[in-house]
Amino acid sequence: MQIVLFGPPGAGKGTQAKYISEEFNIPHISTGDILRENVREGTALGKKAKAYMDKGELVPDAILIDIIKDRLQKPDTKKGFLLDGFPRTLRQAEALDAILDDINKSIDVVVNVDVGDNEIIRRLSGRRTCRSCQATYHVRANPPKVPGICDQCGGELYQRADDTEAAIKHRIEVYKKQTQPLIEYYKKKGLLVDIDGEREIDEVRADIISTLKRFQ
Ligand code: ADP
Ligand code: ADP
Ligand code: ZN
Repeated sequence: MQIVLFGPPGAGKGTQAKYISEEFNIPHISTGDILRENVREGTALGKKAKAYMDKGELVPDAILIDIIKDRLQKPDTKKGFLLDGFPRTLRQAEALDAILDDINKSIDVVVNVDVGDNEIIRRLSGRRTCRSCQATYHVRANPPKVPGICDQCGGELYQRADDTEAAIKHRIEVYKKQTQPLIEYYKKKGLLVDIDGEREIDEVRADIISTLKRFQ
């Protein structure tokens, strides 16, 4: 199965991606995680991307398209994949179609996780991320068992530089302007399913998994 997980920043894509990837045994490909890994390792790509990311701007399309082209060539994507955070612009969506076309694949379904602005701000301002495995927590809605420590791997939890109020507001604007129009793009292709993301994590999970089983 080839799945795109779509939605505004903070919708819960990363949280749900973990469950989907386990249930369907497909790799979770998060462009945000890939970019942050490059920043951490100080690669040339990471150096280029960092300033955009800290401000809540999108990293240029050409960089993202190269990343995805590369990643989709790895053998673990043969049985399918789950894209999280890509595509985010019309140019990226068109490039993805072309990349998949070349390898005789196509997207099966785009899951649009719908969450309103106030809830996005609540979620992102309380988000904590694991430095080692990228798992996310929320100080109130989904706290770790031991404060500051990842349940999954024991890693240290931190607050992302772009999870501050100013950057969050800017990211919401960027989403509305550059990313939201893709809803129409995928609707026209008949690929979009809407999921109400403003429910408990487990309820959203059950809804997404049962919806995706219909596309298997
Ligand atoms: P995204 O990958 O879409 O940016 P995350 O999965 O990182 O979003 O979730 C953003 C924040 O919201 C995290 O702190 C996460 O723990 C929390 N969160 C995720 N899903 C829910 C939910 N259904 N209800 C409340 N908080 C949630
Ligand atoms: P969130 O879901 O919390 O918005 P991500 O982890 O998906 O955050 O992305 C973090 C940052 O990485 C974005 O604000 C942007 O700067 C960059 N980024 C990630 N994916 C893309 C993409 N497809 N196109 C452009 N920039 C991206
Ligand atoms: Zn961890």
